[in-house]
Amino acid sequence: MKIFKFGGASIKDSKSIKNLLSVLEKTDKTNVVLVVSAMGKMTNAFEKIVNVYFDDETKVTKNISFVKTFHNTIMIELFIDKSHPIFNTINSIWNDLELFLKDNKSTNYNFVYDQVVSLAEQVSTKIISAFLSDNGVENQWIDARNYIKTDDNYRDASVDWVLTKKHVEELKNKTELLVTQGFIGSSVSKNTTTLGREGSDYTAAIFAYCLDAENVTVFKDVDGVLNADPQIYENAILLSKISYREAIEMAFFGASVIHPKTLQPLQKKEIPLHVKSFVNPLKKGTVIGKGIDLKPKTPCYIVKDKQILISISTRDFSFMMENNISEIFDLLHCYKLRVNLIQNTAISFSVCLEDKFNNFDNFLSSIKEKYKCLFNKNITLLTIRQFDNKAIALIEKEKEILLQQTSRETVQFVVKTIKK
Ligand code: ASP
Repeated sequence: MKIFKFGGASIKDSKSIKNLLSVLEKTDKTNVVLVVSAMGKMTNAFEKIVNVYFDDETKVTKNISFVKTFHNTIMIELFIDKSHPIFNTINSIWNDLELFLKDNKSTNYNFVYDQVVSLAEQVSTKIISAFLSDNGVENQWIDARNYIKTDDNYRDASVDWVLTKKHVEELKNKTELLVTQGFIGSSVSKNTTTLGREGSDYTAAIFAYCLDAENVTVFKDVDGVLNADPQIYENAILLSKISYREAIEMAFFGASVIHPKTLQPLQKKEIPLHVKSFVNPLKKGTVIGKGIDLKPKTPCYIVKDKQILISISTRDFSFMMENNISEIFDLLHCYKLRVNLIQNTAISFSVCLEDKFNNFDNFLSSIKEKYKCLFNKNITLLTIRQFDNKAIALIEKEKEILLQQTSRETVQFVVKTIKK
């Protein structure tokens, strides 16, 4: 079997959905699972509904209208017949959403988030599946929540591999095109869960792993994986081959083209991951697989914004010892602060971290009494894999560096500003 994945940018309007159809028309669709995410920036728009639901309920209706209008415009452009059943199908999803928000008693933001935000994928896949059928591409819509089984760690759920495999394997003999949602799953308590932002690539990898797929193809708005973000580095070049190991390192350091969790399941079964352009699907793109690290061998620049650099030292100038560091790490873990870089001296310990769940202030209050803390918010972590002296010199010339760390294959800079 083969897995295709289309992300938000590839289905952002009716024109791009028609392009998806033409990509499929050019491809062999037997034994294919098509994983689709929310349309355009709809995940952000649904997040906004959840935020106003908690912060200012008067704005909920306006934000729901926004997502309704967005999808309605697309449907009107895709379906000439205005009595097409898809209009009712989508309407009933909006009714469910309104009912859920009205009846909900839970104050758990993450739980409500998953119940609401997951609807963006439900809506997009229903529309796409109906549009493909109408245009002669036979397919079966399947609910990913019946297959991807997780714990109930809402917004960042972990996959229950045994259960998931058992369910996904039921699809092994299906020959028709299966259309399903990325990013979402369900817990044992039967509630919807999500796998973390940009999680649809991961969904594709989960299906691939459980089905022993031949390969996975992720369609993007770029020709493949580049050695840098072309919006930041004008001379970014296409990488034609990346090893699993190198790609895992790049994703870990923040390369946004691949979700970090995507590669492990693929690497375990040596399933190649193709990254291709949805505009030029016949071009080769990038293949991530076993074998040589990088082709061509060139420095790769990875930029991670919204970082916090905190330097923590003892109040009595005593050494930062293992017990201090272990205490700090326990708290970082407990507040779900993701550590991207560490560096220590005798009396101070610096950490570059990411505060995805808005817990930094609580973390700070819990260590402040015992330790002296200095920090900078909104800074950037810049990583260069396979660096050379020229690449380093360029950063040193252009950026205000707060911290630098070099290992054999990687150099990292915590810098104040990145010009875009
Ligand atoms: N729609 C989700 C997000 O935007 C998942 C994905 O697109 O990969 O994060």
